[in-house]
Amino acid sequence: MTRDATGQGARQAHAVVVGGGLAGTTAALQLADAGVRVTLLEGRPRLGGLAFSFRRGELTVDNGQHVYLRCCTAYRWFLDRIDGARLAPVQDRLDVPVLDVGHRRGPRLGRIRRDDLPVPFHLARSLATYPHLSAVERVSVGRAALALSRLDPADPALDGIDFATWLGRHGQSPRAVEALWDLVGVATLNATAPNASMALAAMVFKTGLLSEPGAADIGWARVPLGELHDTLAGKALAAAGVRTELRTKAERISRTGDGRWAVEVPGETIEADTVVLAVPQHETRALLPDGALDDPDRLLDIGTAPILNLHVVYDRKVLRQPFFTALGSPVQWVFDRTDASGLKGGGQYLAVSQSAAQDDIDEPVAVLRARYLPELERLLPAARGAGVRDFFVTRERTATFDPAPGTGRLRPGARTRAPGLHLAGAWTATGWPATMEGAVRSGFSAAGAALSALGRRHDHPLQEAV
Ligand SMILES: Cc1cc2nc3c(=O)[nH]c(=O)nc-3n(C[C@H](O)[C@H](O)[C@H](O)COP(=O)(O)OP(=O)(O)OC[C@H]3O[C@@H](n4cnc5c(N)ncnc54)[C@H](O)[C@@H]3O)c2cc1C
Repeated sequence: MTRDATGQGARQAHAVVVGGGLAGTTAALQLADAGVRVTLLEGRPRLGGLAFSFRRGELTVDNGQHVYLRCCTAYRWFLDRIDGARLAPVQDRLDVPVLDVGHRRGPRLGRIRRDDLPVPFHLARSLATYPHLSAVERVSVGRAALALSRLDPADPALDGIDFATWLGRHGQSPRAVEALWDLVGVATLNATAPNASMALAAMVFKTGLLSEPGAADIGWARVPLGELHDTLAGKALAAAGVRTELRTKAERISRTGDGRWAVEVPGETIEADTVVLAVPQHETRALLPDGALDDPDRLLDIGTAPILNLHVVYDRKVLRQPFFTALGSPVQWVFDRTDASGLKGGGQYLAVSQSAAQDDIDEPVAVLRARYLPELERLLPAARGAGVRDFFVTRERTATFDPAPGTGRLRPGARTRAPGLHLAGAWTATGWPATMEGAVRSGFSAAGAALSALGRRHDHPLQEAV
């Protein structure tokens, strides 16, 4: 017996969470922590959704390099909650090596760093010495950043325009867009400036670069993602008393005669007082009962965007930095995954992360190999004489929702018109682009809505974190 918000005895409520990605796992943990009996259903044989690992010979490979920022308070809560924060630490201070191989006078290395000064002075020195922009462009970038810091990302008008148009209106040259705005924007939004909603761009740049001095310090997993999002998350769920059913796909969700919910999985119908549907938008549309949203087909208008990762195992060390990003090359971001992957024998394993990869996503491996290995040699002199032990690709065609202008009005919140049915997922109305942060935030919102519908108190975990 648990207590409801009025302090009276209540039957232990039962929640079914559908989808074991970060959104569903978060919702399940939050509901269980609030004393609700929880069943978590995941169609695949593992938790973690779009951020997972798999084995390839001796390597443990992530489906795609994932990073987060210090300002991602919800994802950091998640890491703490699964006891994984030490395995995915944040760098002490933002430091991004930016290697330009397109310059007529030869390759040039710049860095985006921050100082321990108040915003916006924390980036002033880095901008003033950034070699990939002219002095005029640097001043103009500073002015645009100040204008951006005054925007309200929740303003619906911003969702109607694209990032490139806004940058153009604020005097940003094509070079400034390439060497700074898109450098950060493509990786965080999964779209180039002309294809990205200004509201989402404002959210990323305002929160990441212009909220607190350390906001953009970068964190990433030093272990395979699966160790966090599957193994440790699974342990935390078990310890919280959640019944987790893998390889169990929800096939139908309907209302029962007594106002509860019935979730049909192969061979079983599970009854629940509340359901959190934490699956991608198209799967949500397929499972939504009639009347749950005013215009459910609008979910199908939320597009998707691909991310491609190229994985290269060299027979020697070719990169000394943990990661870098490139200009003047199709290569975007390169990460050293040697230690995390378990590679033995003195070689080095690099993951090349290509966002907004519409042009490359369907290319055969041989074409990608012929295109990218010479590029890596151009960027990394030590790769020129190195042997390539392995080259393979991971393709995520629906890696994120498409952050196109106008997407904001299509994203539903956690509440539906069906009492007790709630939505979660990075694609729901979090205000964030499709990120781990957005996924966890959506899990908070859905669990909070479910708990208030059950008459339970819900303390938002970020109240202490922010
Ligand atoms: C290659 C790649 C790189 C990325 N890089 C970054 C990054 O650097 N930083 C960052 O913050 N984010 C990044 N992202 C985005 C991030 O991974 C996602 O936004 C986040 O993981 C989405 O979590 P989610 O829980 O909302 O959805 P999902 O991960 O899609 O989870 C939904 C789950 O529901 C399950 N499911 C679907 N239908 C059913 C059903 N009927 N019954 C039961 N289960 C079902 C699915 O199997 C899945 O596990 C990247 C994504 C990819 C693919």
